[in-house]
Amino acid sequence: MTPRLAAGSLVIATHNRGKLAEIDALLRPFGMRCLAAGALGLPEPEETGTTFVHNALIKARAAAQAAGLPALADDSGLCVDALDGRPGVYTADWAQRQWFEGPPGRDWNLAMGKVEGLLQGLGAGASRRASFRCVLAIAWPDGSDVAYEGRVDGDLVWPPRGQNGFGYDPMFVPAGHEQTFGEMAPDAKHSMSHRADAFAKLSREQFGR
Ligand code: IMP
Repeated sequence: MTPRLAAGSLVIATHNRGKLAEIDALLRPFGMRCLAAGALGLPEPEETGTTFVHNALIKARAAAQAAGLPALADDSGLCVDALDGRPGVYTADWAQRQWFEGPPGRDWNLAMGKVEGLLQGLGAGASRRASFRCVLAIAWPDGSDVAYEGRVDGDLVWPPRGQNGFGYDPMFVPAGHEQTFGEMAPDAKHSMSHRADAFAKLSREQFGR
């Protein structure tokens, strides 16, 4: 039987404040009190998995064990069909500047340029289909866990368009739409995103609605 969350404290295994605020807003109506892993001083485990599910579980399990409370973690990224699903779990890594590319840190224009360069290298007929994926994993201190996978399918465009969102949003047009995630109003994106899809599955099973 699927383990269930009881109303009360839940550790959010992220050190990203934006994600924490978003998850807190989604879970508060269900009586969950979200505690940030960073604020509890929990260490960040290395994401050594080769799938989103594995990485989300690594983070949720580590936080649940360290805090002695149920913990939720997410892992997400962009999968490009013609690139055999890359960058996938390495989505954030593709934005990492090399020493010759400028000051240390992440550069999303660089990351989008890498994806586009590889696609163009495949020739004009290459598929531009891609999907954003998100896995939300919950782990309990007794060792049980569960994972929910969400996705949104679409096409990659070039050049990137729009100033909203983050990451690869400006080059992703969700299926059935004209605007990129970077051009859409944030609410519109959030209603159809991979995170929304994963969260809908989580809330249906965990909270019955
Ligand atoms: P992580 O889930 O924090 O490991 O981050 C994965 C990476 O995927 C992020 O740094 C973003 O670049 C990318 N990503 C995940 N979700 C989105 C999204 O909604 N829009 C754009 N990029 C995303």
